[in-house]
Amino acid sequence: MFTLDAKIPEGPLEQKWSRHKKERKLVAPNNRRKYEVIIVGTGLAGGAAAASLAEMGYKVKSFCIQDSARRAHSIAAQGGINAAKNYPNDGDSVWRLFYDTIKGGDYRSREANVYRLAEVSNNIIDQAVAQGVPFAREYSGLLANRSFGGAQVSRTFYARGQTGQQLLLGAYQAMMRQVEEGGIEYFPRHEMLEVVIIDGQARGIITRDLVTGDICRHEADAVVLATGGYGNVFYLSTNAKNSNVTAAWRAHKKGALFANPSFVQVHPTCIPVSGDYQSKLTLMSESLRNDGRVWVPRKKGDDRHPNDIPEEERFYYLEEKYPSFGNLVPRDVASRNAKIVCDQGLGVGETGLAVYLDFRDAIARDGEDVISAKYGNLFDMYENIAGENPYKQPMRIFPAVHYTMGGLWVDYNLMTTVPGLFATGEANFSDHGANRLGASALMQGLSDGYFVLPSTIGNYLADIKPGTRYGTDHDAFEQAAKEAQESIDRLLNIKGKRTIIDFHRTLGRIVWDKIGISRTKEGLEQAIEDIRSLREEFWTNVYVPGEKANYNKYLEFAGRVADFFELAELMAMDALDRNESCGCHLREEFQTEEGEAIRNDQDYAYVSAWEFKDRNGVLEEALHKEDLNFEFVELKQRSYK
Ligand SMILES: Cc1cc2nc3c(=O)[nH]c(=O)nc-3n(C[C@H](O)[C@H](O)[C@H](O)COP(=O)(O)OP(=O)(O)OC[C@H]3O[C@@H](n4cnc5c(N)ncnc54)[C@H](O)[C@@H]3O)c2cc1C
Repeated sequence: MFTLDAKIPEGPLEQKWSRHKKERKLVAPNNRRKYEVIIVGTGLAGGAAAASLAEMGYKVKSFCIQDSARRAHSIAAQGGINAAKNYPNDGDSVWRLFYDTIKGGDYRSREANVYRLAEVSNNIIDQAVAQGVPFAREYSGLLANRSFGGAQVSRTFYARGQTGQQLLLGAYQAMMRQVEEGGIEYFPRHEMLEVVIIDGQARGIITRDLVTGDICRHEADAVVLATGGYGNVFYLSTNAKNSNVTAAWRAHKKGALFANPSFVQVHPTCIPVSGDYQSKLTLMSESLRNDGRVWVPRKKGDDRHPNDIPEEERFYYLEEKYPSFGNLVPRDVASRNAKIVCDQGLGVGETGLAVYLDFRDAIARDGEDVISAKYGNLFDMYENIAGENPYKQPMRIFPAVHYTMGGLWVDYNLMTTVPGLFATGEANFSDHGANRLGASALMQGLSDGYFVLPSTIGNYLADIKPGTRYGTDHDAFEQAAKEAQESIDRLLNIKGKRTIIDFHRTLGRIVWDKIGISRTKEGLEQAIEDIRSLREEFWTNVYVPGEKANYNKYLEFAGRVADFFELAELMAMDALDRNESCGCHLREEFQTEEGEAIRNDQDYAYVSAWEFKDRNGVLEEALHKEDLNFEFVELKQRSYK
């Protein structure tokens, strides 16, 4: 039985983090080299942590699936990273960033964590600038800012539409410096399959060398999972195809609680689905909503070219419904409203599942050059994919799965319920409650990696005798390696008739239809049944070609899809438990006539943390609740009007 102790430091909100840093135990510099830390993942969260811990003197082993650390999914991030520097002098502050994030998350996140995130945000920008990250600048030389949803200030730092790439190059070069120096042992193309627990503590991992197929054992004093989000459970998402839940899910099955699995962000500005055989959706950055205006025709079935529809016949539904925030309402609100207008038959394009994002007025106001300087690469990307020129006609956009707020439950120190097992970045259940504000994921990943984990992990290691080693022939390693091998053999031996992609696509449709933008009790119950029967078929009828002892992309994907099946069921269970609407989680039974979420703070102001029990064809999970206490912020019905 777990006691969910979030280990939130006492004292005033503004002093919690500094007090915690003052009170925690330290590892002396000359002792740090005696500790080994495994970091799985080399995105912003994992890359930053590996570089920082190695720089401090710890011995780090870094793992990723890709052939290079810098191909982690973080490279895809476009729009920017938030920080409370208040360079535009428009009223921002640490408090305001904290408040916007708590409110944006619909009051389902921990105050102390979110305040720390806002506090650390400014250090991240300094760190990145020192590394040479080429943030956009004003003519004066000051770093430029733009606005993102859910905020009435401009606090988003950016490098054109390539912010994630530039930040990742910063973390990557810091990490590779340590690879060169010998502080980091680097294992690209290694997939973590199991976590190894000895005497209740995480002491290592089992990986598969993705080139040779070898099952490998790695021992350490602590293990950090920075393995990203699980949006690909939906099959179609904006995530990189390699993004998955395997590391987190296998850790969950070994005792790490999984929090808020049903909290999944659907991003309002993506290129709409165009056909059955599409494997990927493309994000058009939220930054576009700074200048682009969202609308649909007022008349149902109006199939005129958008440029021929006069102003008075255009329904700028976000501007009309939410005059204070207009097109910059948070993502959940924008996505839900896009669905509402499409459900009303006002959607555009061949499928009717799209709305316009129009730059006509911005181009008339600022000129094409200015718009191109801000968003040129995004406009080019749109034209390449959609075959239409967004300088000449509006983009067509529709919501798509984008980010997962749920993940491994962690305490204030970023430690899971398994001692010695930490989770950072998108892999943890994070600071974003039921809805993440734009440009806050990069902030959280880098806050965790550069600042929080390097500080909190020492507190754990200080209690472990330096140099303690059990050896990789210990029973726990034997057992974990055996489990990893057995599940690979099982998949290869099915030799069924249906492809892995076909199963994944079918699973994705169930999850999107029943656990997507909106949910109902009946739909969720049906989803559980459908997922179970599809999973049964998967284990008897999937065809996994190739062999285990070499490079086999099918085998990799099959293992991940198997984990997605189990996760999907838990997502439905979690959504079913929450008899309220909050943030991304819209239960149709709990909404106002206008389609706004009705939260129930009395009964549901908690983090759901699920404990894996056992499985004999049926997923058994026990729900634990971490009550969220709001001492500093008053819980209010969210309004962006
Ligand atoms: C298209 C797009 C644009 C975005 N734009 C923004 C933005 O502008 N601003 C913002 O704040 N956020 C943005 N986000 C969200 C943000 O990019 C992610 O949340 C963030 O980058 C996640 O970073 P991470 O380090 O946690 O994980 P990732 O970058 O996903 O890295 C995961 C790492 O784990 C490794 N890994 C995974 N599983 C295993 C395993 N089993 N074994 C070994 N290694 C494993 C991978 O190889 C990889 O190295 C965007 C997301 C998308 C999809």
